[in-house]
Amino acid sequence: MSTVPALEATSAGSGFRRTTIERRAVGPRDVEIRIDYAGICHSDIHTARDEWGGTRYPVTPGHEIVGRVLAVGEAVEGFAPGDTVGVGCFVDSCGRCEYCTTGQENFCTQGVVGTYNAPLPDGTVTKGGYSRGIVVDERFVMHVPDALDPARAAPLLCAGITTYAPLKRWGAGPGRKVAVLGMGGLGHVAVKIAAAMGAEVTVLSQSLSKQDDGLAFGAVDYFATKDPETFARNRGRFDLILNTVSADLPIEQYLSLLRVNGVLCSVGLPTEPYSVRPGALVGTQRVLTGSMVGGLPEHQEMLEFCAEHGVEAEIELIGADDVDAAYDRVVASDVRYRFVVDVARTLA
Ligand code: NAP
Ligand code: ZN
Repeated sequence: MSTVPALEATSAGSGFRRTTIERRAVGPRDVEIRIDYAGICHSDIHTARDEWGGTRYPVTPGHEIVGRVLAVGEAVEGFAPGDTVGVGCFVDSCGRCEYCTTGQENFCTQGVVGTYNAPLPDGTVTKGGYSRGIVVDERFVMHVPDALDPARAAPLLCAGITTYAPLKRWGAGPGRKVAVLGMGGLGHVAVKIAAAMGAEVTVLSQSLSKQDDGLAFGAVDYFATKDPETFARNRGRFDLILNTVSADLPIEQYLSLLRVNGVLCSVGLPTEPYSVRPGALVGTQRVLTGSMVGGLPEHQEMLEFCAEHGVEAEIELIGADDVDAAYDRVVASDVRYRFVVDVARTLA
């Protein structure tokens, strides 16, 4: 066992305070990581503020983790002390079910174990990356390629894989028109990845305030969703819309922007039901679907893809005492484009 500095929220309204948490002793297949950077995902906010229900307090969020290997168990083959590594949304799964054995650990039939807020058999609850260290089964540890800046790579561990997986699955590439809905943490990485895949990328944002950035990230078009003209102009245009919005939306309005057989894939996780008349799907055979993070092999593939294509997150590096203020800014869509906690310098 080791004790590491960490942040914790004790209730939905508490905000964060400094604390220390226990990490398990390094088992044979474990990698002990000294965390340097932890991205702030909107899912951290949904959880810390109990917007999904089921938060187990005190909670230490953080599933966009980059750090250095401190020690490895005797059976670990893929990692050595000093390696730069990443950990994403998951830290364990059964390893034997039909999904685990096909690289889709995110759908483990026993339930994939989240990096934070997941109950463990011993009665404890997993604690995430807003902490100086973590011990993780090597299956759930990724190599961060040297070409990537470690702080800017951290958000790829969730925002990167969560957008890479559906973009690839739904054929983002040359000749395909892809719209990214919402240009926050996930959305801005999605724009970069879809452009790197060769797709024609359009951003649909609430306003035009981030237009220059969106075009610099690789989009060819940028529209404000608060302008009704946007819907008339882009009717029937897109092969794929990747919806990264964290808030409730009139989803049927966005379906109208799809071509016949077009796909609207949501990764955003607000809580209200969608309202969609069957005709909005039947008439043009549109597909309304979702996507959940990605499997482990695809995580490493995504990191290699990002290294090859120079895709990194745009970040604001913040101190451990600035997380509450950062949360408020994320909720206000005032993030450019991912807050990353400088764990190494401020939570040591
Ligand atoms: P984020 O940085 O807050 O970005 C969300 C963006 O949505 C905002 O930047 C804003 O973009 C847009 N938006 C916010 N409020 C809106 C509103 N009321 N109306 C219209 N647009 C609005 O959040 P994130 O970290 O990218 O996460 C996005 C969502 O994905 C969250 O719900 C998160 O929980 C979820 N998520 C899902 C998975 C998964 O596996 N499916 C993984 C990670 C995260 P504009 O300013 O451009 O309008
Ligand atoms: Zn996330």
